[in-house]
Amino acid sequence: MSEFDLIRRHFTRATPGAVLGVGDDAALLQPTAGKVLAVSTDMLVSGTHFFPDADPFLLGHKTLAVNLSDLAAMGATPRWATLALSLPAADEAWLERFSAGFFALAQRHGVDLVGGDTTRGPLNLCVTIFGEVPPQQALRRSGAQVGDDIWVSGTLGDAALALAHLQGCIVLSDGELAACEQRLHQPQPRIELGLALRGIAHSAIDVSDGLLADLGHILECSNVGAEIDFAMLPVSQVLRLRSQQKLALHGGDDYELCFTAPAERAVEVHAIAERLGLPLTRIGKIVAGRGCIVQDASGNPLHIETEGYDHFR
Ligand code: ADP
Ligand code: MG
Repeated sequence: MSEFDLIRRHFTRATPGAVLGVGDDAALLQPTAGKVLAVSTDMLVSGTHFFPDADPFLLGHKTLAVNLSDLAAMGATPRWATLALSLPAADEAWLERFSAGFFALAQRHGVDLVGGDTTRGPLNLCVTIFGEVPPQQALRRSGAQVGDDIWVSGTLGDAALALAHLQGCIVLSDGELAACEQRLHQPQPRIELGLALRGIAHSAIDVSDGLLADLGHILECSNVGAEIDFAMLPVSQVLRLRSQQKLALHGGDDYELCFTAPAERAVEVHAIAERLGLPLTRIGKIVAGRGCIVQDASGNPLHIETEGYDHFR
């Protein structure tokens, strides 16, 4: 199969939201008047971000999901994506499943795949995503203010627990693994939450490297500090039963949103949680100063040993 057959067969679908999609030297896109583009790129590398024998359907999902998560954290509406693939071989069955996983999620969020690049090489999956947001409503990392509540969506640490099992660091029962594995393989980008937080949240970030690491980016960009209540961190039953709550601080790959909002907007945040059927938990406060203090139930600072994932450390 030629490169062009491969692209036509597996990566060419209708692109109703684009002026011109796959097949020319460039795609043509018409942004909505009055909005700015939110553009982000995320790459998944075999052996670093996933096991080489990973289920291709789930990989297709995750390749797009991690990019959608960045748009969610900006409060942007997803519109278009490009996909750069480096593949060891043109494996028809693999490509079929990969593109099925990719397009299933793309369709759910109204994303048109409008272009990309396909080469032979070590397995490497790279998406650039384009979304739109009214310029004044983008959720930046730099907007946190002293007195803001700090919130997170869903639960934290499940993906890290599943990964710890797959890496042989811990042994989970089949039931326990089933309860957290999906969080690792099929993260759900919190797009609707990001949109709902426009005009409410002062700042937001998606949790991909661990809560402390990612909240740390908000603190640094906003020149503020934070106090977190360890007991408030939303964790699943499995984490609790396994006494692995600390994974909620350091575990990456959850793709939940962490955001800050003024205390007087808490009622609205709770209403959003209700409407979306997604738990939103207040875990602490933005304070003056620098850095993040994690407190135990009696208000004493917990000693924090490790940091979030960093590829170059
Ligand atoms: P060029 O040589 O001009 O870069 P290519 O041969 O790389 O063009 O690609 C041909 C067309 O197919 C382009 O429109 C490109 O955007 C698209 N394309 C290539 N790879 C992919 C892919 N994996 N997914 C979607 N579109 C792709
Ligand atoms: Mg090309």
